[in-house]
Amino acid sequence: MSPEPILSTIPLVSTRHAACSCEQLRLTVEGEPVRVSICHCLACQRRTGSVFGVQARFDAEQVTTEGASRQYVRVSDEGEKRAFFHFCPDCGATVFYTTEATPGIVAVPVGAFADPSFPAPTRSVWEERRHLWLRLPDDIEHVS
Ligand SMILES: [Zn+2]
Ligand SMILES: [Zn+2]
Repeated sequence: MSPEPILSTIPLVSTRHAACSCEQLRLTVEGEPVRVSICHCLACQRRTGSVFGVQARFDAEQVTTEGASRQYVRVSDEGEKRAFFHFCPDCGATVFYTTEATPGIVAVPVGAFADPSFPAPTRSVWEERRHLWLRLPDDIEHVS
């Protein structure tokens, strides 16, 4: 009998790193995201400068941050729940945010990971604000 390979007893927890454009503000996550979603709302379009936002949500305990950040408080399209965006004071890129609607959860814009192999979004929200040319994956969950 051959002995069990030692590696098989070590839990496989992936560690990923996100950063702002100048990499002064950095973030590390341990483990897989709770959810990855696309948001088409106009506020996400303005925040990202893109035509939709893609964000990965993690439990706050999975996340550690390093570096200086400033906060911008945004009222959602519904005008009720607030979101707290943390961005680099030097380059302005948002690296993480929290919302009143999801206590204990930290959202990270997927682009901040600069990792094309990051897990794909499984949910699409605010589709009434979607740019009409944009095609989504066939198996994505649609939430209006
Ligand atoms: Zn920066
Ligand atoms: Zn949005």
